[in-house]
Amino acid sequence: MNFRKTCGGCYYCQNKMEHFCERVTPFVGVMADYGSFKESLVYKLPEDLPLDVGAFLEPLSIAVHAVDIAKIKTGDSVIITGGRPIGLLILQVAIKAGAAKVLVSEPVRGKTRAGQTFWRRCYRRPVERRPARQFANKFTDGRGFNVCIEATGITALARQLVMLSERCGNIVWAGVYPGNKDIELPIFYMYSKELSVHSVKLAPYPSPGRWKYCQNWI
Ligand SMILES: [Zn+2]
Repeated sequence: MNFRKTCGGCYYCQNKMEHFCERVTPFVGVMADYGSFKESLVYKLPEDLPLDVGAFLEPLSIAVHAVDIAKIKTGDSVIITGGRPIGLLILQVAIKAGAAKVLVSEPVRGKTRAGQTFWRRCYRRPVERRPARQFANKFTDGRGFNVCIEATGITALARQLVMLSERCGNIVWAGVYPGNKDIELPIFYMYSKELSVHSVKLAPYPSPGRWKYCQNWI
């Protein structure tokens, strides 16, 4: 079920950008045993999909959206900052998308361990405590990461990922950042490397087709 109630009639709803619905309202009481929801916002899970796995489809749709935006290709090197649920879901989708090297930067031991069950290269030491370029060079033979995904909401990391990127790299800011904080970006550096910066805000409305697309990543 989509936890946000979209109107279905505004410009964004009509153009497959329902996550920007102008009249959206979040549902309340979604932990209740029973609830009443618009039919178009409820999806039937396949019979063979366990409920505890199905519960991940909504956050998974955000991870899939982030990886779609990041345009991960076979053989890419990827860094993800943050090993919380979205970061670890992005990790799994990035591997399935063909990433050859994935590094998750997560300082909390329990989260790092969770990440290591999917991929052994999950490092506890956060990248912000290392000289950025030196760190990227060591992991990527001196070139930087093809894709840099920020999944913590820490503005300093959003900037730092720009410095860790390979030429023509894609940087995706997939955190929720404070509305009262700006960052300065090295515009000449970004121009000279043809870097692209994208952001992720939730995911487009998961239509039945899109659910199926997300289920393929499980
Ligand atoms: Zn709408």
